[in-house]
Amino acid sequence: MQLEDKMPADNAHTDLETPTITVYKKTGEGVNADEFTLDGKKVDQKSAAREEAERIYNQPFMDLLYQAQTVHRENFDPNQVQRSKLLSIKTGGCAEDCAYCSQSARNGSKLSASKLMEVQAVLAEAQKAKEGGASRYCMGAAWRSPKERDMAVLEAMVQGVKEMGMETCMTLGMLEDEQIHRLKDAGLDYYNHNIDTSERYYSEIITTRTFADRISTLNRVREAGIKVCAGGIVGMGEKQMDRIDMLLTLASLDEHPDSVPINMLIPMEDTPLAEVQKLDPIEFVRTIALARILMPRSHVRLSAGRTDMTDELQAMCFFAGANSIFVGDTLLTADNPDEDKDAVLFNKLGITAMAVGCDGKK
Ligand code: SF4
Repeated sequence: MQLEDKMPADNAHTDLETPTITVYKKTGEGVNADEFTLDGKKVDQKSAAREEAERIYNQPFMDLLYQAQTVHRENFDPNQVQRSKLLSIKTGGCAEDCAYCSQSARNGSKLSASKLMEVQAVLAEAQKAKEGGASRYCMGAAWRSPKERDMAVLEAMVQGVKEMGMETCMTLGMLEDEQIHRLKDAGLDYYNHNIDTSERYYSEIITTRTFADRISTLNRVREAGIKVCAGGIVGMGEKQMDRIDMLLTLASLDEHPDSVPINMLIPMEDTPLAEVQKLDPIEFVRTIALARILMPRSHVRLSAGRTDMTDELQAMCFFAGANSIFVGDTLLTADNPDEDKDAVLFNKLGITAMAVGCDGKK
């Protein structure tokens, strides 16, 4: 895999006043739909939405930051950041082959597979997260999809966390309709299901499921009334157009995801992406800014990769419109800044944490 990002020579087009991309609406059917409307007129996705998104992404950096911050302020309190805590409730031994993941049994990882955690152990961790100030508790399992025998345990976890007064989130892989409804009835607020990258680049990263599988689960989760958390990973050797197309896909779902996690790849030993070339941090900030402009009222989460980011880079991401982070010193199997470090950063930047039940929206 190679990095072939090229900035266009002509990036002089700048229009700070009208982030017109927000008026695109998908009208076609299915994941390959290529019909969008712009101001009520039919346009082709590639020739219009992509062109406009590329223009926004590649405009002079200061103009991009200004535009993203303007959109951010119109929709959110710019000095509030939502904090989620993520717990791996079942680690390793996953049947999927995601090239970035140390939990895949196919990646030759040395990580040993664990069983699904006991409900009480999960609730004890959730209580600590609540005391640490987390407003949402995310529980992730390394599965292709949950089995029937696990459903009652998962429902009990959701119910227990909900009773503590936190928002609940799970990421369990693909779901059947019945599983979606059972989790919804147990009190699941959010379901995380990342599309990972663009449809074009998807098969370079994962071969055991399709991009369409991903979109199908997302649509059915949303239709059941569970809020959608969907984003992706950058720095996996994709091209700039893949980052843009990934965001365009998210922005053209029937409703924008409530949360959009943008992860910077943490290259994990023994995975096919262990040696991939690092993404330029400015490209990462541009990705955050485009996510903010395309999905003005979504929580854009600065997710994995923060341990390798300076305070200045994180501050720039917040300025570009990121307003959510994961707290705690691990993210599934990857490192994350510890909470004291985050508290110092928030203090330096004058950022406060969103309270439970407060979405920070205007
Ligand atoms: S990212 Fe999730 S689905 Fe993919 S291998 Fe890792 S645990 Fe499995």
